[in-house]
Amino acid sequence: MTSITVDYEFDWGGRIKTAHAIERVTFPLLESLEKVGAKATFFVSAETVASTKPMLEAIVKAGHEIGSHGFNHDLKYDTLNKEALIEEIHSSKVTLEDALGISVVGFRTPQFRKNRFTEEALLSMGFEYDSSSVNTSLKGRYEHRQHEFGLLPEIPVSTIYNRFPAGIKWINLLGAAFDPAEVRVIYLHPFDLLSMTETLFSYRRGISPLVLAFYLARFASPLKTLEKVGKDSMTLASIVAQGKVG
Ligand SMILES: [Zn+2]
Repeated sequence: MTSITVDYEFDWGGRIKTAHAIERVTFPLLESLEKVGAKATFFVSAETVASTKPMLEAIVKAGHEIGSHGFNHDLKYDTLNKEALIEEIHSSKVTLEDALGISVVGFRTPQFRKNRFTEEALLSMGFEYDSSSVNTSLKGRYEHRQHEFGLLPEIPVSTIYNRFPAGIKWINLLGAAFDPAEVRVIYLHPFDLLSMTETLFSYRRGISPLVLAFYLARFASPLKTLEKVGKDSMTLASIVAQGKVG
């Protein structure tokens, strides 16, 4: 099983509070998904809702899932206590549900910053699954799988070569060498899909040369790669509903 997941947030990981990439890539992305019959899960940073509502409505209309990616993407979610986590995630859930008339059952914490309160907080708000970790031996911010207590299903982002999170940029660079997993979870951000020209343009808006080089390095169009590796994609909510993860 494969699931394409999109961390739907402001430009450059929420570092710049504009929705340029979201506006540029949402409709081409929806066309690609439709072309290959894929259904994806969009983890939406709720601070974007006011400026992206027409795009979000199109995503819902096309039958994709909307999950929560928190409200304020800048917060370090692994430093929040249970009450603060509940406040932040609840405001995200309610904003998304009210704006779109949907029910939000899935969560991915910003920057994979899960802590020992995350599962309890999600459970108290009726979430049905979490996708806030990565199956990797890499140290640092991905190293949070110790905060899983089995209170609700956790569906980690997959890896390639047992190291690199299966983001579309890495798949484009290294090939689709996925490590075995029950569910192959691929992830991307809207800005991963910008053209080279648009990425270069963004450089003038304060991105370091090293980060830029990573985003410019590509051997194929990210959307074409996604169509190839994600063609059987189902939403995480539907995979959980089938009891395929535990
Ligand atoms: Zn994010």
